[in-house]
Amino acid sequence: MIKSTVAGSLPKPTWLAEPEKLWAPWRLVGDDILFEGQSDAAMSWIKIQEDAGIDIVSDGEQFRKHFVHGFLEEIEGIDWQLMTTMGIRDNRYDAQVPTVTSKVRRNKSVHGQGAKFCREHTKGKLKFTLPGPMTICDTIADTHYGSRPKMAKSFTELLNKEALELEALGVDVIQFDEPAFNAFMDQVPIWGIDTLHRAIEGLSCKTAVHICYGYGIKENMDWKESLGEEWRQYEEFFPSLNESRIDQVSLECADSHVPLSVLGLLKDKEVLVGAINVATQEIETPQKVASTLRAAMEFVDPERIIACTNCGMAPLPRHVAEGKLMALGEGARLLNKELGIQ
Ligand code: ZN
Repeated sequence: MIKSTVAGSLPKPTWLAEPEKLWAPWRLVGDDILFEGQSDAAMSWIKIQEDAGIDIVSDGEQFRKHFVHGFLEEIEGIDWQLMTTMGIRDNRYDAQVPTVTSKVRRNKSVHGQGAKFCREHTKGKLKFTLPGPMTICDTIADTHYGSRPKMAKSFTELLNKEALELEALGVDVIQFDEPAFNAFMDQVPIWGIDTLHRAIEGLSCKTAVHICYGYGIKENMDWKESLGEEWRQYEEFFPSLNESRIDQVSLECADSHVPLSVLGLLKDKEVLVGAINVATQEIETPQKVASTLRAAMEFVDPERIIACTNCGMAPLPRHVAEGKLMALGEGARLLNKELGIQ
């Protein structure tokens, strides 16, 4: 049976944060009130995902402002007053990032409280995402470590502790988000995969890595325009990724110029096939979702396919994201019916 899940983020309700914006400031003030609001938002997304028939649900990243900085906010050794404008994802766009000024430390759990809440509110499979070490290093300035692989190693120790805690709380899938893999392809076999291996050490739950072409924001769309007819970034590091100990790989396939034949390089992995385009507000038909998944089946056995979104849906209007979730669930069901699995 082809199961379904989401890549990660979902829009925040307008009462929680400014909508359709990355790094949107919270609208609730005070830690307790904010956590209550985040919890209500997560619970509502869990319900909507379950209504859509999504098999492995997520908190929609309601407990964090941004998929990287949400984790970093709780880490010591980072100066949030020392904000630097940095060209991220190989200078694709500028972001305001904090600066590492001393050895990084995690003195308390970052997402434990949120994960515990979600675990209590769904009986189904639960997924939690964490930023990958290479992507963290590409979303923060550094005056302490002097080299990205060195800094990544330190962050990886913290990510491993966080991941072990999430697993102990009953999280079924832990995913590391590594859009930076698509910007620094040659670095992936050199140190990207090694750091992921350290991040998953000791875990027995499913592990995943998400590698996309970014959120549906203008800078990413312009970049995609420049990539030509065929996007072959994945091809460069998939052979090493296939040899890795990560169980699942989450990819961008809907409306993308990625030749699906590259999926054939992931013969030993479960493949989260992105069948929802997060860069358009047009809601896919279930038939279109099914046809993207069917195309992937030419290179991946159906039992290794999980229907997914191309990337997070945080910047989309809430009703659009809801519609897309419904289409994703329905599309997977259509295909299962076609395959004779109800
Ligand atoms: Zn993504």
